[in-house]
Amino acid sequence: MENTVATTKDAKTTITEEYNFLQPAPYSSVFLLQSHLVTVSAQMSQFGHVSAVNLSGHNQAIKFWNSGSTWRCVASGQVNALSFGGSDSMGQKFRVPTTNVVISRPRKDVCPLQVVCIDYPRPELENTVNFLEAAYLSSSFRSSSRPTKPLEVVIAGAGLAGLSTAKYLADAGHKPILLEARDVLGGKVAAWKDDDGDWYETGLHIFFGAYPNVQNLFGELGINDRLQWKEHSMIFAMPDKPGEFSRFDFPDVLPAPLNGIWAILKNNEMLTWPEKVKFAIGLLPAMLGGQAYVEAQDGLSVKDWMRKQGVPDRVTTEVFIAMSKALNFINPDELSMQCILIALNRFLQEKHGSKMAFLDGSPPERLCMPIVDHIESLGGEVRLNSRIQKIELNKDDTVKSFLLSNGTVIKGDAYVIAAPVDVLKLLLPQEWKEIPYFRKLDKLVGVPVINVHIWFDRKLKNTYDHLLFSRSNLLSVYADMSVTCKDSIHELFIIVLFACRCKKMMEVVVLNPGIPPHMAAVFIAILKFSENLTCTHSASLMQEYYDPNKSMLELVFAPAEEWISRSDSDIIDATMNELARLFPDEISADQSKAKILKYHVVKTPRSVYKTVPGCEPCRPLQRSPLEGFYLAGDYTKQKYLASMEGAVLSGKFCAQAIVQDYELLAAQRQEVPSEASIA
Ligand SMILES: Cc1cc2nc3c(=O)[nH]c(=O)nc-3n(C[C@H](O)[C@H](O)[C@H](O)COP(=O)(O)OP(=O)(O)OC[C@H]3O[C@@H](n4cnc5c(N)ncnc54)[C@H](O)[C@@H]3O)c2cc1C
Repeated sequence: MENTVATTKDAKTTITEEYNFLQPAPYSSVFLLQSHLVTVSAQMSQFGHVSAVNLSGHNQAIKFWNSGSTWRCVASGQVNALSFGGSDSMGQKFRVPTTNVVISRPRKDVCPLQVVCIDYPRPELENTVNFLEAAYLSSSFRSSSRPTKPLEVVIAGAGLAGLSTAKYLADAGHKPILLEARDVLGGKVAAWKDDDGDWYETGLHIFFGAYPNVQNLFGELGINDRLQWKEHSMIFAMPDKPGEFSRFDFPDVLPAPLNGIWAILKNNEMLTWPEKVKFAIGLLPAMLGGQAYVEAQDGLSVKDWMRKQGVPDRVTTEVFIAMSKALNFINPDELSMQCILIALNRFLQEKHGSKMAFLDGSPPERLCMPIVDHIESLGGEVRLNSRIQKIELNKDDTVKSFLLSNGTVIKGDAYVIAAPVDVLKLLLPQEWKEIPYFRKLDKLVGVPVINVHIWFDRKLKNTYDHLLFSRSNLLSVYADMSVTCKDSIHELFIIVLFACRCKKMMEVVVLNPGIPPHMAAVFIAILKFSENLTCTHSASLMQEYYDPNKSMLELVFAPAEEWISRSDSDIIDATMNELARLFPDEISADQSKAKILKYHVVKTPRSVYKTVPGCEPCRPLQRSPLEGFYLAGDYTKQKYLASMEGAVLSGKFCAQAIVQDYELLAAQRQEVPSEASIA
């Protein structure tokens, strides 16, 4: 079953690729430099405009970080070259030999230099209980006793759940064979490049501080630098004041949950004081009752729960329509209250829980590929275009093999379905359908959602370097990806200039973020082709989403039930109508202001399971009642919602169940001599 339908229409296809990376943006970099000591402090305005830079000293490693509104940098370490890149596994590297770098105290015992470029500094997540718990679970795979005969585990679906299952099984010394139906990795984080080289994706994806397993995974893959962290704020459009926004700013100085409470108390534009007080009183049972109370609220919709707790309807309208749509693409009259309480719990419990980050490029390339590289480096396999068509059974109803749509039969020691729940239901053998574990899946049904991308002929001003809640009827969250997903090019430029002894030039560039694009392009061209600079991977200099001159809005269109079968042009017209209220000075529905250069509409008729009241007990555990058969997926039982974190954690649980069942599965194999994997 093909779940996603992607369509596009080019109004005008030329999107210029200029090397203009001098966007006045917040930045932070960590790099090591041979025999240098450099300290830098840069004053940043609220939105990260660099207003001052000082360079001094002699040291070897340089670290930039943000302390309040001041950006600082210290240095230590030793290296012989500047090397820039996400992860070695991706093969993307930018090396700058430092033969011409000013060296105050040359050293012989030099080591390779690492450069890590990020947006806002990565928050300190490592000390939270949830992070440590997730780290412990990860390490349990690596430290488990090596299997004498590694299991061959066949996994269907290379979304984050399948990838995670395969990764942790490989870590535990087993051999995963991951089969993906489509020609693209990632499932609901899949993305495609159009003819102009522009990305469009299944969904606008945000990574939160409160995603401990995802954050661990990034660390384990050595790609922490790929997350571009934003200010700790939540920003909502004001429907009654077109073009205006209201912010919830989480102060850095306060611990959780005080920073969240402060953010709510400080915002008087969306809720009045009596409304806040009534909401707080309504929430008291959740605060006192803990997890048991949260689980018991699964029977009520958000709207019903609010009314039962005496919370004014205006609180639901002002805040929870936006939250419900962002969490599950549906309205509060449909969403289970448990979902909201879980989210509040996760986001407010940790200081950086609700802090958001964007990936610095497309998820298949920037996140899924490193996982695949890791799996393959440990002997596992990942195959695209391998759709499971049938689960074939033995006489005792256990799995005999997976039959692919091309006729290939795949056998293993254990089997995992990591496809969406709607696909699993279609694949279920008749013999299994009445088993309660599978029968209760009937209640889990994917919700439709649409992801819209619009490229405009100009840079929109009424936007932020952040995720925005549109609070409009048809749209949920959106972001100007040309702003939020800067590559690391800006930082890279500064490093390059520094590496080339262009200290003076660097100061000019940094102090003048508004430097014209063509000048910036000239600088980089000179440096790129200078003898002193080796660029081993020119992709490092390419821009993925960033564009200084034109905006690309990526918008989640939800609820989409009534729109999923409508034409793309209808969807774009409806989107433009709502954008006209968000950008009253810049966008009008008839395009008399900003013009659409092109758009892509990606429809997912069945996305994450619809979290309606009463579906929590229907979520299955990863270990099925049938020996050797397992499930992974965001819909399976785990304490996070249908999210990337939930998918990754479900994969870990699935791998854990298989590792725990090793003796049983290995014994099974001895009884039935294994045939070749592929018949
Ligand atoms: C528009 C949108 C926005 C989102 N935003 C966020 C966000 O901001 N933050 C967040 O945390 N989450 C977000 N999510 C949710 C998140 O993407 C999912 O929860 C997560 O990616 C699900 O991963 P999964 O592996 O469980 O399932 P999937 O990603 O659906 O993976 C299943 C895989 O199985 C494959 N498959 C299907 N049938 C077969 C078959 N027969 N044989 C072999 N393979 C098969 C599919 O092609 C797919 O690759 C969003 C989702 C959408 C749609």
